[in-house]
Amino acid sequence: MLGKLFVIPLYNESDGRVYKINIGDKFYIGSTKMGLKIRANKHNTKLKSGSKCKIYEEARLQKVDKLYCEEIYYGKFYKDIENEMITKHLGKENCLNMRVVKTTPERRKMMLNKKKQCDLCGKLILSKNMARHKKNIHKVVPF
Ligand SMILES: [Zn+2]
Repeated sequence: MLGKLFVIPLYNESDGRVYKINIGDKFYIGSTKMGLKIRANKHNTKLKSGSKCKIYEEARLQKVDKLYCEEIYYGKFYKDIENEMITKHLGKENCLNMRVVKTTPERRKMMLNKKKQCDLCGKLILSKNMARHKKNIHKVVPF
């Protein structure tokens, strides 16, 4: 007799991946909740469709006909890591991203409810209360 049937989700709802696609000495940063092979297939379909995005134009220029996604992060904060990485590299010659990630109001709210360490006393404080904490405890007035 069969035991209880468990449904195993393909991924945890809240987890995702940040990936990098290398094209010669240039790269593209992206994120996904899908498996990386499936995500890469979607990029490859766009590459073949003649998309004018920087990443595909560069691939065609360098005669690369297949793109691979290399995982650089897996976890809850994948959107934030992606955002941070793209913001850091956007506009540089070797970065093929064209824009920063749009964050959702829910996500912004979640980040504000995340605790950060105060750089003056080391205490963990909610991000949204940090300015108030510094002003009240350390008499640091925000500029
Ligand atoms: Zn403090």
